[in-house]
Amino acid sequence: MPAVQFISDLHLDTGRPDITRRFLQYLGSRGRDAGAIYILGDLFEAWIGDDDDAPLSRAIARGLKACADSGTSVFVLRGNRDFLLGGRFAGSSGCTLLDDPASIDLFGQPALLMHGDTLCTDDTDYLALRNTLHEPGWQQDFLDKPIEERRRIAVEVRDASRHAGTRKTGKVMDVNHETVAHIMEHHGVRLLIHGHTHRQAVHNLAVDGQSATRIALGSWDAGAHLLEYTPDGYRFENLAESA
Ligand code: MN
Repeated sequence: MPAVQFISDLHLDTGRPDITRRFLQYLGSRGRDAGAIYILGDLFEAWIGDDDDAPLSRAIARGLKACADSGTSVFVLRGNRDFLLGGRFAGSSGCTLLDDPASIDLFGQPALLMHGDTLCTDDTDYLALRNTLHEPGWQQDFLDKPIEERRRIAVEVRDASRHAGTRKTGKVMDVNHETVAHIMEHHGVRLLIHGHTHRQAVHNLAVDGQSATRIALGSWDAGAHLLEYTPDGYRFENLAESA
């Protein structure tokens, strides 16, 4: 049975051609062997609308499409950076966009997939901003702006969030454990897989008095972190080391 692979937080950007190269390489090799690939958010460092036909966006859509056409199902969940990914991108890349959270059946085990930003409930400033950015009215206003203006705004937002990020403590930027347990209980799962924190690890916890697992994926900033599931279990892999 083909494996199921999970990646997140590639933060693809023209400033990091090495990550783009590695991702395209992956899509043309290991990704094709997989039955399904789940990209759990922040595939792109920024996404200003599906009508942006920048060379990077087009190259990535082509790579994803070739992988999907080879028989791999590719699923994309939006992150806090690329939350504007939409149907036109899904069409050109051959991917299926997923809601956050998304419930899947992983070789018989129910699993919940999230980007992970909504688990960081101690970061109240961010959650307030997120509410605004997810209002349909705000999104339509933004998408109606000329592309150059959207590019300028995206740079401003990125710089502001980097600045804010340096002032926040590690704890505020990490998941809230009560929120995690609550969401898993609500969805009736014992397995949660998410990205966003860039802290690759397996966490054991109790949900409803039963043992449960939360797996956080690593980013591609240093290394190229992959989580692979087969019917026999899971393992982490760093594609940068095996290349
Ligand atoms: Mn994120």
